[in-house]
Amino acid sequence: MTVSEGVGTGIYTNRQLARGLNGMAGEFGHVPLDPNGPSCRCGGRGCWEVYASNRAALRYYHESTAVTEGPTFQHLLALGQSGDALALKALTEWLTPLARECA
Ligand SMILES: [Zn+2]
Repeated sequence: MTVSEGVGTGIYTNRQLARGLNGMAGEFGHVPLDPNGPSCRCGGRGCWEVYASNRAALRYYHESTAVTEGPTFQHLLALGQSGDALALKALTEWLTPLARECA
């Protein structure tokens, strides 16, 4: 599993990576968690990655501040490490769907 601009996953079975049609096996980032959720770049709504990608963390931060541009994801992490309450709130919102789906 990888988390960055999206959420990428893979399926390892029978000692090999399952590739599927067009290499799309294991593309779980676009599994809808909430069909009424936010729009996703795939055209769907409420996909896992709209809640759990780095872009989602930045969206959570922007939703709780007047800031509309920046920070970068790395800067958001640094803000969280420094104890910035809004950054910690955004990072907690971001981690919740990751922890729920990975548990
Ligand atoms: Zn999607």
